[in-house]
Amino acid sequence: MSTHENISQRGQVMEDVTESIIHDNLWIKILFGMIFGIVAGLLLSPYGGAIITADPSAAGQIAEWIALPGKLFLGLIQMVVIPLVICSIILGINSSRNLEFVKNISIALLPYFLATTALAVSIGIFLVQWIRPGDGFSEEFVTNMLNSGAATDTLPDYNLTDLTIPQRLLNLLPTNIAQAELDRNMLQIVVASALAGVALLSLPERSAEPLIKLSVSVQMLTMKIIGWAMHIAPYAVFSLLCDILIRTGFDALGSIGLYFITVLAGLACVMVMYMLIAVILGKRSLFGFLGGIREAQLIAFSTSSSGATMPVSISVAEEHLRVKPSVSRFVVPLGATINMDGTALYQAVAALFLCQVFGIELGTPEILLLLITTIGASIGTPATPGVGIVVLATILSGIGVPPEGIALILGVDRLLDMCRTTVNVTGDLTACVVMDRFVS
Ligand code: ASP
Repeated sequence: MSTHENISQRGQVMEDVTESIIHDNLWIKILFGMIFGIVAGLLLSPYGGAIITADPSAAGQIAEWIALPGKLFLGLIQMVVIPLVICSIILGINSSRNLEFVKNISIALLPYFLATTALAVSIGIFLVQWIRPGDGFSEEFVTNMLNSGAATDTLPDYNLTDLTIPQRLLNLLPTNIAQAELDRNMLQIVVASALAGVALLSLPERSAEPLIKLSVSVQMLTMKIIGWAMHIAPYAVFSLLCDILIRTGFDALGSIGLYFITVLAGLACVMVMYMLIAVILGKRSLFGFLGGIREAQLIAFSTSSSGATMPVSISVAEEHLRVKPSVSRFVVPLGATINMDGTALYQAVAALFLCQVFGIELGTPEILLLLITTIGASIGTPATPGVGIVVLATILSGIGVPPEGIALILGVDRLLDMCRTTVNVTGDLTACVVMDRFVS
């Protein structure tokens, strides 16, 4: 059997597997999970209803138990996501067995990603400079906030090494693949998989076939496990949201509500931009597109992880949006890693908000530099919960804002992370429908 037949023959089997990921009315069940999770979280939170206990540490223990199904769900997905990314990219590149296709899609996709991210950051910069949510904070308030419990040691553990730009570029290539996997460095894994995919494409069929067959099996195996995980998705969503809200409540919103609203307004504008792109460039009906992607959006909102949402995004792209697998399996893993418009917008707004709070005035050249830095930073932000704010710390030191300023915005970061991840995932699916139309 030729390699091409081999890939297309697995189409049906693969379709069955992706179908089992999004079963009937899954989105309604997830939506209920979300609503119950938010309500229960607010009732149980010491900063909300406090119906069981008003003691934050006791409430934290309850939250830990409630989070169990959610953590299990994430654990199952994280367990298989690296082999899934590797195989999806290799097969995405090889499904057409056509080097021309890979060239065309890369030439179209990378500028598209850069352009949408630049637009998202510009929207954020415009809004934050217009609304000016950071003006009018008294010095006393800032000092109190910095000394309050919102210490930066609650940030996710993510190591940021200060590298120069040439070092960063060199760092894209994993010299040690096992290390890249251990570090869960998705960007390096994507680069290595893309290289392996292109190399495989240039091999004679006979030599390429065994590895392609192996990739097909591994990809199906990972999707099967994800299909099992999806059975507990509604409970997982309930438990993850309940856990977050028990720990944060809505109290944190108080003084920095305007900042929160500015980020949300920016994210909403980016959503509108995606809808226009999907309708105008992707030639999709608005409701067909929005209805098609809702499972992925709900999972992104509840897990705050584009990485964990990736398998669902691939499934909805193929099942609901009818995007060619060669496109979805290339665009989604790559997009989840480097295309984070929601995160980029958030980082720009947060940086300028803190400049306003600390009375630092940036001129046009500095703002342009911020735009470029944010685009780069969002590309390097891993697709996991809460890391956007850690990467923000490097942007802040670059523009002279004390990184401790992060303590000011930490309280609402979890809620904003859910929203920006939803935007990140929507961006990848929008890219899928556009590329599906233009690249053949
Ligand atoms: N949670 C985001 C994502 O996975 C990244 C971030 O902004 O923290 O897309």
